[in-house]
Amino acid sequence: MNLLIMGPPGAGKGTQAVEVVKELKIPHISTGDMLREAVKQGTEMGKKAKEYMDKGQLVPDEVIIGVVKDRTKEPDCKTGFLLDGFPRTLPQAEALDVSLKEMGIKLDGVINIKVPREKIVARITGRRVCRSCGDTYHVENKPPKEAGKCDKCGGELYQRSDDTEETVNKRLDVYEAQTQPLLDYYGRQGLVLDINGDQAIDKVLQDILTALKK
Ligand code: ADP
Ligand code: AMP
Repeated sequence: MNLLIMGPPGAGKGTQAVEVVKELKIPHISTGDMLREAVKQGTEMGKKAKEYMDKGQLVPDEVIIGVVKDRTKEPDCKTGFLLDGFPRTLPQAEALDVSLKEMGIKLDGVINIKVPREKIVARITGRRVCRSCGDTYHVENKPPKEAGKCDKCGGELYQRSDDTEETVNKRLDVYEAQTQPLLDYYGRQGLVLDINGDQAIDKVLQDILTALKK
């Protein structure tokens, strides 16, 4: 299956994507993770992207489109993929369409996780991520067994530099202005699966898997 997972920052896309890809045995392609890896490696793209990311802005379309195009052409995507955090603008969605057409494949669905804006700030400011394996926790909603330590690999948990209260509001504004309109774009193609993200993590997953089976 070729899927997108959409929703505002902090909606739980990454949390759900990890479980959905286990179930469907497809790769999880997160552009946020790819950009953070580039920042960590200190590549030219990483240096450029960090300035935008820390301000809560989107990195330019021309930076990200080529990266996703190359990634979806890799052999592990032959059975499908789950794109998380891409597309975020209309030009990105159009570029994805062109790229899928070239590959002779189509999108099967767009998982849309809905969470009210007022709930998002607490989710994002409480998010903690493993420096080694990228696993995501929350200080209250999904605490690790041992504070500051990843349950899976024992790695150190850190707070993303863009997960501050002021950046969150900017990111939410950017989401509403530039990314939310894509739901109309995919809605017209009958691809959107609306999921209530304002419930327990396990329940959200169940709802996603049920929606995908239909
Ligand atoms: P996104 O990838 O959409 O930005 P994440 O998956 O990183 O969001 O989730 C944001 C934060 O909210 C994380 O700290 C995560 O543990 C927490 N979280 C995810 N889903 C839920 C949920 N259903 N209820 C409460 N907290 C959640
Ligand atoms: P995320 O991990 O999805 O919350 O993304 C973190 C940040 O990476 C965003 O705030 C953007 O600055 C950048 N980013 C991730 N994906 C994209 C994309 N598709 N287009 C532009 N910027 C992106």
